[in-house]
Amino acid sequence: MNSANEKKLAKRATELGNSADPKAFPELAQLVVSKSPQVRRLAASAIGKLAGIVPATAAVDALHSLLRDEHPQVRQYSAKALGAFGVAAKAALPDLRDLYSNPVERDYVKRSVLAAGKLIRAAVDIAERQVIHYCQRCGVKLEPDEYVRSQKAFQRSFCNYCFDEVFLERRNFETKVQLQKNIRAKDGTWVQSDGERIICEILAAEKIHYRYDERFRILDGYAIRPDFYLPEFDVYIEYWGMDTADYKIGMLKKQQLYQQQGKRLISLYPDDKPLMSEVLLDKLAKFT
Ligand SMILES: [Zn+2]
Repeated sequence: MNSANEKKLAKRATELGNSADPKAFPELAQLVVSKSPQVRRLAASAIGKLAGIVPATAAVDALHSLLRDEHPQVRQYSAKALGAFGVAAKAALPDLRDLYSNPVERDYVKRSVLAAGKLIRAAVDIAERQVIHYCQRCGVKLEPDEYVRSQKAFQRSFCNYCFDEVFLERRNFETKVQLQKNIRAKDGTWVQSDGERIICEILAAEKIHYRYDERFRILDGYAIRPDFYLPEFDVYIEYWGMDTADYKIGMLKKQQLYQQQGKRLISLYPDDKPLMSEVLLDKLAKFT
């Protein structure tokens, strides 16, 4: 790009940013893909100045893609501009976090990224507090803190009273699960069902290292307890035979979560029992 043209476009970007014109966005959307980093940077800055004036979704999308710009100052200015969009920029938070934790990112970019992230998170927080939530167990209106607390712990909305009740129920359930492990596999592992015993014995016979009944891990905010994990294969096995207590989220939801998180899951069912070894090894072979 010749420098006269670059100057002209840079000037235009600045003008648009000061225009307070709701129709300025389409032209800025052209400028953010300019070959000149100087023009891209000024266009990003201009979009930020028009937060609340131009359509937020399109503007945020444009800025969001500039976070991957090869030029650090363009990344810096698009981060700054995203901060001005508040809640509308929520989807950019993971990418801002990645930029911030990137060891080779420039410090001045990181500072802008951090400031923008704080602004967006604060705006999201305020928006969430303005929504009225009700306890899904007893129906009372929740205080914001109650909502945050129970969402964090259970991904559910409970008042403090119900929170404690549910917490106790779950602890009792944990104890019950331990007591239910009353079947012993040949390798000494205590399990909860005959299907699980067969799986243990197949894995042991094949000398496949496994962990049974791992503690919870969090997938997408849900607490999940896999039945078996095979570290050498990075594969989970779930045996869907047992009708466990109510809090275990449904089978379909759970399978969907594994999928969404890119986890490799082998599902086995009571019908597989007669040919369990063939079915299991066959499914496992697909992951090797
Ligand atoms: Zn309640």
